[in-house]
Amino acid sequence: MRILLVEDEPKMARAIRRGLEQEGHAVDVAADGEDGLSRALSGDYDAVVLDVMLPGRDGFSVCREMRAAGRWAPVVMLTARDAVDDRIRGLDAGADDYLVKPFAFGELLARLRALLRRGPLERPSVVVAGDVELDPAAHSVVRGGTRVELSAREFALLEFLLRRPGEVLSRERILEHVWDYSFGGSSNVVDVYVGYLRRKLEEPFGRPLIRTVRGVGYALDPTQLQAGE
Ligand code: CA
Repeated sequence: MRILLVEDEPKMARAIRRGLEQEGHAVDVAADGEDGLSRALSGDYDAVVLDVMLPGRDGFSVCREMRAAGRWAPVVMLTARDAVDDRIRGLDAGADDYLVKPFAFGELLARLRALLRRGPLERPSVVVAGDVELDPAAHSVVRGGTRVELSAREFALLEFLLRRPGEVLSRERILEHVWDYSFGGSSNVVDVYVGYLRRKLEEPFGRPLIRTVRGVGYALDPTQLQAGE
């Protein structure tokens, strides 16, 4: 995912950037509100981490202008203190979530994951991989022109895989993204649901879709998808 970080404190910016990059995100950093806003408007970001207290334009204003311009990437605001006022102002400005400084980095990651999983507020775009098309807004899946009916969980699993073509995803990571955090079940449930997807999306079409990576998890292989065409 591509994340815009708007933070004026260099140490804080470096630490957050490093942490996000270690999680595999691409991170752009803006050190003030004006730069943050212009990047948010010109770039295509999956999420924005936005400090409230910034030189020049503050975080509330950046968020408001983004929303006014139709930019719906999820925004996590970083507030300096636990002021109810700031939280309300942030949410009023169109932020999706907020974190009070100082925060544990894991908490930021968890909030971002939740937001990224939820997707943008605007009608999300159709995801296409090979001959498979998934429309999150219409909740429809089409393979090779044929509509396939999926349950909500199957749909969420397929979307997670489709959005990361070629990436090997561990059962734990899939569980964390597709099932709730509180889900206490075993990772076998992932295997079960991959089985359901294969029955619906591979068997009737005679073409592979999801590759098993022995001892690790699963990957949706774009080359396999194309091979069927
Ligand atoms: Ca600041």
